[in-house]
Amino acid sequence: SSSSSSSAAAATSPHVLLIAFPGQGHVNPVLRLARRLAAKGLLVTFTSTSDIGARLLSSSSDVSPLPNFRFDFLSDQPSGPLAALDDLMRHLASAGPPSLAALLRRQTVPVTCVVGSPFLPWALDVAEGLGIPAAVLWVQSCAVFSAYYHYHHRLAAFPLSDSDPPVSLPGLPPLSAADVPSFLHPSNPYKLLADTILASFGNLGKARWLLANSFNELEHDAIAAFSSLRPLTPVGPLTDPFRGDLLTPADDCMSWLDAQERQSVAYVSVGSVVVLTADEMAEMAWGLRDSGRPFLWVVRQESRGLLPEDFLEGLTTTEGDVGRRGFVVGWSPQDRVLSHPAVGCFLTHCGWNSTLEALSAGLPVIAFPQWGDQVTNAKFLVDVYGVGVRRPEAEGMRARAAKWKEAAAAAVAEGGSSDRNIQNFADELRSIVV
Ligand code: UDP
Repeated sequence: SSSSSSSAAAATSPHVLLIAFPGQGHVNPVLRLARRLAAKGLLVTFTSTSDIGARLLSSSSDVSPLPNFRFDFLSDQPSGPLAALDDLMRHLASAGPPSLAALLRRQTVPVTCVVGSPFLPWALDVAEGLGIPAAVLWVQSCAVFSAYYHYHHRLAAFPLSDSDPPVSLPGLPPLSAADVPSFLHPSNPYKLLADTILASFGNLGKARWLLANSFNELEHDAIAAFSSLRPLTPVGPLTDPFRGDLLTPADDCMSWLDAQERQSVAYVSVGSVVVLTADEMAEMAWGLRDSGRPFLWVVRQESRGLLPEDFLEGLTTTEGDVGRRGFVVGWSPQDRVLSHPAVGCFLTHCGWNSTLEALSAGLPVIAFPQWGDQVTNAKFLVDVYGVGVRRPEAEGMRARAAKWKEAAAAAVAEGGSSDRNIQNFADELRSIVV
């Protein structure tokens, strides 16, 4: 029968179990790699916390099963909403290892390889304890991987304040204090998260393979230089049109985009974690309104109350939704938005998934990084890939332009540098006796 032949195939093919840190920026690339491994004929199991499981299955995500692709979530007894990242890290470190071990033991087809994450360093320990070979999937850039590795192993001195010289890492442009991941700064508020990630760079010996969500053409120099330390295998960009939404996307923005002119729309998103302040929200809101251009802005539920009063009302028109100049959604189908012909640029917080998705869609970006690896990604988008400008750069340009205007006026004002030179020239001419 077909069921016995498929179980025979399953029994003989390798079984890969991938575990994702419970965050949208991890779930998407891990799911996408899982689907690609399944498409190569492996038996694949995707796991994460039970909370992620519940959200994935209820958000109308594109999680339709393949015959050799399964979900099996941890029974990690979530202790209510864990708002603070460091609380989440503590919960995972205590509840994660026993539930992962139980999950691995209950698999009917033995697991051949666990694909873990430096954000979940204990996954490698559990795999090792059960004698299962392990890999890690790094979901950020190879440049950032190299930076953390060099920092952890004290292979370079990192600039931690603006007065420190930039650090030169092999295959990377010099990185100033503003460009190195903010988790390395003394002011980083996410101590446990940073410590966990960095400690895992001392634990990489337990992984037989280091995989990264990047590609050779993009990060050739960083990857080549790092390979003298350890082979780092790029398997991305993991930007396939396959979604693992933890929030339900507002699909009605797609018909609004259909009605907009080609390359006219600015798409604005800060990803799944960043929360802007009320002032930043107001600045963005009036900036978008005053730009005179159509925009699609993702404002997650928790920030909606920070929109300036009357802003949303000001967007409605008598023509109905399609006539609106701006569209605000709680969550977008981002991969579909970025590849829509009406979208002309992407104002992004520079999360690595958003960065790769923008590059994959061939879209220029306006970078406004907030923290973590976003600041490093912004540096690369602007100075290495050449596809972006920084949002404050426009302000910087205006400030520099204002400075030149002032200096020009001062130079020719009475007593100014050029005025004095003219005076001297005139005086010399006067002294010539013809
Ligand atoms: N995303 C989405 N809809 C949104 C905003 C974001 O589908 O409205 C997706 C986006 O395509 C990306 C992920 O959420 O795959 C965010 O990951 P990223 O690394 O860019 O940022 P993070 O959320 O981790 O800060």
